[in-house]
Amino acid sequence: MRREPKICATCGRSFEWRAKWADVWDAVRWCSVGCRRHRPGPLDAALERAILDLLGARGVGASICPAEAARRVQPDGWRPLMERTRRAARRLAHAGRIVITQRGRPVDPGRFRGPVRLRLLEP
Ligand SMILES: [Zn+2]
Repeated sequence: MRREPKICATCGRSFEWRAKWADVWDAVRWCSVGCRRHRPGPLDAALERAILDLLGARGVGASICPAEAARRVQPDGWRPLMERTRRAARRLAHAGRIVITQRGRPVDPGRFRGPVRLRLLEP
């Protein structure tokens, strides 16, 4: 029996039920072996905090580029953090903290591709 898709606890992308997970689906938290091996750690928590701090300082309605959060966490060498920053943004979006947008419109945090901006979820 097929089940609802889940959100990966590392990358924040949605992933589909697979037959090989039939007996353990309730316990599955990661989309891949890679994501299971790279669970979010202190650096990832720092990226989430940077996103929320930058947005909090800028106020409701304002947006940031994910690169701004990466630069805040690691000013020298922020580029390699970009994918991890997008992952942090996806996790925050799934948690109901922020909205991920493209051309000003919200996108599905589990499925978007390409450049995005981030803003606080307005109450
Ligand atoms: Zn994943």
